[in-house]
Amino acid sequence: VRAVLVRPPRPGVTVEEVPPAPLVPGSVRVTVLECGVCGTDHDIAAGKYGRAPDGVPYLILGHENLGRIAEVSAGVPLFQVGDVVVATVRRGCGACPFCRAGRPDFCTTGRYSERGITGAPGYFAEEYVERTEYLVRVPPSLAGVAVLLEPLTVIEKAIVQGEAVRARAAVASGGGGASPTALVAGTGAVGMLASLALRARGYTVTAIDRHDGSTRAAKLLRGVGAVHADVAAGLSALGEARYDLVLEAAGSPSLAFALIDRIALNGVLVLTGIPDAGGTPAPVPEGDLLRGLVLGNRAIVGSVNASRADFETGLRDLAAFESRWPGVASSLITSRRPLDDAPSVVGHRDPGSIKTVLRVADGGPGPPAR
Ligand SMILES: [Zn+2]
Ligand SMILES: [Zn+2]
Repeated sequence: VRAVLVRPPRPGVTVEEVPPAPLVPGSVRVTVLECGVCGTDHDIAAGKYGRAPDGVPYLILGHENLGRIAEVSAGVPLFQVGDVVVATVRRGCGACPFCRAGRPDFCTTGRYSERGITGAPGYFAEEYVERTEYLVRVPPSLAGVAVLLEPLTVIEKAIVQGEAVRARAAVASGGGGASPTALVAGTGAVGMLASLALRARGYTVTAIDRHDGSTRAAKLLRGVGAVHADVAAGLSALGEARYDLVLEAAGSPSLAFALIDRIALNGVLVLTGIPDAGGTPAPVPEGDLLRGLVLGNRAIVGSVNASRADFETGLRDLAAFESRWPGVASSLITSRRPLDDAPSVVGHRDPGSIKTVLRVADGGPGPPAR
C-alpha cells in the first residue's frame, strides 16, 4: 500500500510502500479517493507536532478523508461495498467520562489518539481499515465536496459551542427580528466553511483577512452574501462594529486578542485556530479587557475536534451549501494533486490556495489530478 509517511519529531515527508492493515471483524477496508491537506499536516511535516503509533517507526499522515468501501468483514450489517464514507479522526482514551459517552473531542486525560496526527495511522494512503462505528456514510450527490466534511466538522462544533453560550441571552436577542451578526477571522478553508455555515444559519457575516477584494476567497464570500474586509492595516477597517458571534480561524494570538474588543454585548468569541506554542509577553490592558467581559456578559471559548453529531450536521450543511450556492463548496478545492506529489504539497504552504486535495484513487470525484 502506497502511503505518505512522516517520522516525528523529525521533519520530512516520504511516499513509501507499507503493509496493508488486517481486516478484523467489525471493520471495513476503504479505498481512499481524496484527502485534504491542512495546516496541521504542514506542522507535522515540519516536525512541530505528531506522534507515530506505539511500536511503529512512522506515522501515515492525513486526517481529512473521503473513500469508498472495498471490502466488508463479517458482522457489518449497515455498510456495503461501494458505500462512500468519511472517517472521524479522534479515538477516545476509553477511560474518561467524555470518551465513554462517545465525546472524545472533550477528552480530559489527553490519552486519545488521532488518525494521521497522533498515535494512529492516517488516510494519506491507497487504503485504510476502520471499524464502522467511526464511519459516516456520504450520499453520492455530495461525493464531489465531501472531502471538505472533516474540516467543516471543526466549525460545526465551534458554532454549537458559540450558540450554547449565546443561548444564555436568548430572550434578549430574540427581540426585533434582526439577524445575528458574525465576524469570521480567516479565509482559509476552515474560515470559508465557517462563513458558509453561518450564512446558511441566517447570520449576517463579515469575513476578514489580509488581502484585498480580488482574491478567489473574497469573490466567493461576496457570492454567498457575506462581506469581505481587508484588515492588513488593522481591525479599524471594521469601523466600530461588534458581533454576536466572533469565530477565529486564523491561529494568530495577536489577532485573537484584538478580536476580544469586537464581541458584542452578550456575545462570544470562539477560538479554533491553534497558535504556535510560546510567544513573547504582550502588554494587555487587563482592566479594560476584564471589565469588558464582565460588564458585557461576554465569553471566550476554545473549541477543538468534533463529535460524530458534528459530522452528521456537516453533511446536512454541505447539502444546504450545494442547493443554495451551487459550485461554491467545490470552488474551495483549489487544486487536486496525485498522492506522489505529497512531499511537495505537504512540505510547502501555498498561500494562493484555499484547499489542496490529494487525489488518491482513479474514479474518485472531481477532475483528474494535475
Ligand atoms: Zn485538517
Ligand atoms: Zn478521554
